[in-house]
Amino acid sequence: MTPFIDTHCHLTAPQFDEDRDEIVLRMKAAGMTAAVTIACDDEDLPKLAALLPQYEGFLFGAWAVHPEYPDHREADVDEIAEVASRPGMVAVGETGLDFYWCKEPLDWQRARFRTHIAAARKVGKPLIIHARDSEAQALEILRETRAGDMGFVMHCFCGDAETALAVVDAGGMVSFTGNLTFKKNDALREVARAVPLANLMIETDAPYMAPVPYRGKRCEPQYCLEVARTIADVKGLPLDEVLPQITANSRRFFRV
Ligand SMILES: [Zn+2]
Repeated sequence: MTPFIDTHCHLTAPQFDEDRDEIVLRMKAAGMTAAVTIACDDEDLPKLAALLPQYEGFLFGAWAVHPEYPDHREADVDEIAEVASRPGMVAVGETGLDFYWCKEPLDWQRARFRTHIAAARKVGKPLIIHARDSEAQALEILRETRAGDMGFVMHCFCGDAETALAVVDAGGMVSFTGNLTFKKNDALREVARAVPLANLMIETDAPYMAPVPYRGKRCEPQYCLEVARTIADVKGLPLDEVLPQITANSRRFFRV
């Protein structure tokens, strides 16, 4: 069994309060060697800080105030950089632009994004990017700030192939979640086919977005194997060729 990594989940979510330890056991039993769990606001951060030391070397963290939250306190570059440099913290994010939930004027969202990019530069750690209906606009800011220097991943990628290849060109990674497995998403699978294997990562966004055949259930990190299976399918390669490469990409990107 090839080891694999979920590069984006939310294990601090209340959906896991009853059985978080059992879930970690299931992740390990499924062959996972690491997961990156992301805290999205000030209340989530202490939960993450409590969780990481329990699973040192297996769970890694990232924190930033999510672009969907207009009314949250803004941390400054120094504070974000300090948090990102704590043990077990491997990235700044998720951050970016969300034009689906939030509507213009979004100057606050762009300003927050730029603060997060500056913090990532300060600590030399990569960025986890959330871009919903805003892939091209987020990429423009990432290009302009040369975020490729630190590395960035477009998480839960839902854009087109042209944008995905522009991400790669700008020094970024493209990560797919469970929606890649959904029956109606042929167009997204075409995007996955177009992205070089060296630039792909997999994730669940658990507890959300469970892939087929778990669709509609609470998502658990080990289900990201189904995303890798779909990537292998669309590329016409065996899973045991695709998975080691994806795992190596994730290790290199997060330095875990
Ligand atoms: Zn997320």
